Amino acid sequence: MRKFLSLLLSVVLFLMVVPAFAYDAGTYTGTGQGMLGEIKVEVTFGEDAIENIEVVSCNDSAGIADVAIAKVPADIVTYQSLGVDAATSATITSMGILEAVADAVAQAGGDVEALKDVAVDKVAGEEVAMEADVVIIGGGGAGLAAATAAAEGGASVILVEKGAAYGGNTILSGGYFQAAHPDYLEYAPLTEGQKSEIERYIALEPKDERMAGWQAAVKEQYKAHIDAGNEYLFDSPELHMIQTYDGGDYLGDSALIEMMAYKDVEAMDWLSEHGFTWKPSTVAIVGSIWMRCKASDTYASGQGFIKILGDAFAAAGGQSVFDCKAEHLIQDETGKIVGVTGVSTVDGTPYSFKAGKGVIIACGGFGANVEMRQEYDELWGNLTAAVPTTNAPTITGDGIVMAKEVGAALTGMGQIQMLPLADPVSGRTSNVIGEGTNMYVNQEGKRFVDESSRRDVLAKAILAQTGSYCYVISTFWNSRMDADYKNNYHLYLDDLIAEGAVVAADTLEELAEKIGCPADVFVETCTNFNKYAAESNDPECGRVVFPENAALEMEGPFYACKRAPAVHHTMGGIKVNTKNQVEAEDGSIIAGLYAAGEVTGGFHGSNRLGGNAVSEVIATGRNAATNLLAE
Ligand SMILES: Cc1cc2nc3c(=O)[nH]c(=O)nc-3n(C[C@H](O)[C@H](O)[C@H](O)COP(=O)(O)OP(=O)(O)OC[C@H]3O[C@@H](n4cnc5c(N)ncnc54)[C@H](O)[C@@H]3O)c2cc1C
Repeated sequence: MRKFLSLLLSVVLFLMVVPAFAYDAGTYTGTGQGMLGEIKVEVTFGEDAIENIEVVSCNDSAGIADVAIAKVPADIVTYQSLGVDAATSATITSMGILEAVADAVAQAGGDVEALKDVAVDKVAGEEVAMEADVVIIGGGGAGLAAATAAAEGGASVILVEKGAAYGGNTILSGGYFQAAHPDYLEYAPLTEGQKSEIERYIALEPKDERMAGWQAAVKEQYKAHIDAGNEYLFDSPELHMIQTYDGGDYLGDSALIEMMAYKDVEAMDWLSEHGFTWKPSTVAIVGSIWMRCKASDTYASGQGFIKILGDAFAAAGGQSVFDCKAEHLIQDETGKIVGVTGVSTVDGTPYSFKAGKGVIIACGGFGANVEMRQEYDELWGNLTAAVPTTNAPTITGDGIVMAKEVGAALTGMGQIQMLPLADPVSGRTSNVIGEGTNMYVNQEGKRFVDESSRRDVLAKAILAQTGSYCYVISTFWNSRMDADYKNNYHLYLDDLIAEGAVVAADTLEELAEKIGCPADVFVETCTNFNKYAAESNDPECGRVVFPENAALEMEGPFYACKRAPAVHHTMGGIKVNTKNQVEAEDGSIIAGLYAAGEVTGGFHGSNRLGGNAVSEVIATGRNAATNLLAE
């Protein structure tokens, strides 16, 4: 009797939560629109249920789209609903899958609109309590570096991640890692422009003793470089420090900058020890100032950092809790941080994570939080929701709010970076062809800025042009494409042309016509630019630093990529010392609390150099964990 009642109850519950719909049973292929073209699914229907969904093709970036592919079809089948949530970090792919399944439902004679209305009632469970030596908030580059270093150092570690997978902004990034590593210099020649820049940095008025020390070191190192007859690029961590400090208007903390530049080099070696392999080239990216950026020779964009560190963390026995938003830090009676509370973003289940040794906040900046960026911005004055961002939707400043609640000091919060070259509508950076240091033209076909400048200078100059956009012009050798015509996000040129992000033409005149600017002016601009690049002398825009591949190859084909500024990086955040310990407003250390990555402030001042974030987040994540374990 009891068995019968329990069966009856199950049937009643099933009927309550899973409404019956009628389908023509069979397997149907549906299509939807993803970020990069069509998504195809095969959906198998019984007579009254969706039984199985398989995503058979999807061009969206692996690593990012995977989350949606794992989550959305499973949820549709579980809840028999087209009203399921998108995966937080892969919204467009999720919507494409939903559209494709709806297409299949329609073919099977199902009622698409009724299925969209099926409520997905998820019931919060009892509180889940977990415990480890170290709790890390956020699974981007900083969080995974901290988690891996802590787990490999022998600690038990729990990583709490708001999204359905690791990644954050790190996985979306171009993956350019700025570090003055001595092993990669011989690839690039030392140009006349670079020589005059080194002299200029040595001669700058020092802002403090630390900077004077860096300048003295560079003077000696540079002399030795030239005396040895080296004709390749000069670089050193001390030059990196001067450029970072100067590039942020001396608003960064020189002690943090010094720590970062040395630890960036160590972080490169640490990543290599974990199997990360690098392209031999060392390049300049938009606003990087120097040819100091390295990238993976295997993975697209920022995906390698996440894959390598995610695997290393798992191998070291680390544990991750996904779809869980950390909410509040837990303090003991002495004020020491002893854990964090969280809540499931799927069903509202509460969590508490007890940390025996300490907590590391690594949950990124606040570029995707419109309210916060409007509250704090001191540079742009109008960062409304209408201004696109390059950031992942989960990058909403939660760590800053949590730290503030326990009395942490914040620094540089008004310093927000606009990336000069993003998609004018979506803010995407992946649909690009061309180096960020190539020639830019406005709608009138003219140059308007020294393209090797700082990012804030470039963004302001672009915003002042007709329509507040520009075109980056390239030919193959400065297109940043590989031999298969894929960009560094591994997206194919043909797809980017089809999408409308890139315009291609065989002649300069044809390109001018296609982008709607006067052909004679445009051709003259290109001819002059090549001359200036050859002579490292640009009387029009005052540019002196031209990488070897800056000029256009005049035989074409030629490419134009329309770009505009988008909210990109928040330089301010939680105040930390060189051990990445969090400082309180009175200057004391908050025991048990560390922070690393974009959630912190003090490294970049008013303007971050391109490539300086990915290196900083890996270096400081590792630094935080190492110091926490040594405490
Ligand atoms: C499109 C793009 C391109 C870029 N390209 C480059 C480049 O080439 N070189 C470079 O140096 N820099 C680049 N940057 C900047 C750089 O990628 C970021 O500054 C850096 O990756 C931030 O790393 P992070 O670990 O601090 O944060 P993120 O990688 O953003 O990770 C933060 C993580 O915390 C999670 N999280 C947030 N809130 C919570 C919470 N409450 N609870 C739990 N988890 C939470 C998020 O979901 C996310 O996974 C780029 C940025 C973007 C957006």
